[in-house]
Amino acid sequence: MNEMTVEAKLAVNKFFVDEENAHIEIDKDYPDKQEMLKLVKACPAGLYKFDKSGALTFDYAGCLECGTCRVLSKGKVIKKWNYPESSFGIEFRMG
Ligand code: SF4
Repeated sequence: MNEMTVEAKLAVNKFFVDEENAHIEIDKDYPDKQEMLKLVKACPAGLYKFDKSGALTFDYAGCLECGTCRVLSKGKVIKKWNYPESSFGIEFRMG
């Protein structure tokens, strides 16, 4: 049987992005790189990345709303974490 990859399953999800209101905000200047690295490694959607200069980048548009980053770093790198407002956010297509 041909199993779908995680990437293929994620690719069929639909996102309704609230362009006016980021439901997650981060502190890009947080002084502890190890704290940032936790998010880079743990986010299942791969939304936290270091760019070529070593700065942390983040895009809330592909968020799976799993809460992992909130649990790991709320009050540190994560300045704000809320679920998206009603009618916004992810619509799962593959469970
Ligand atoms: S809630 Fe989950 S998917 Fe969304 S940014 Fe945080 S770790 Fe990534």
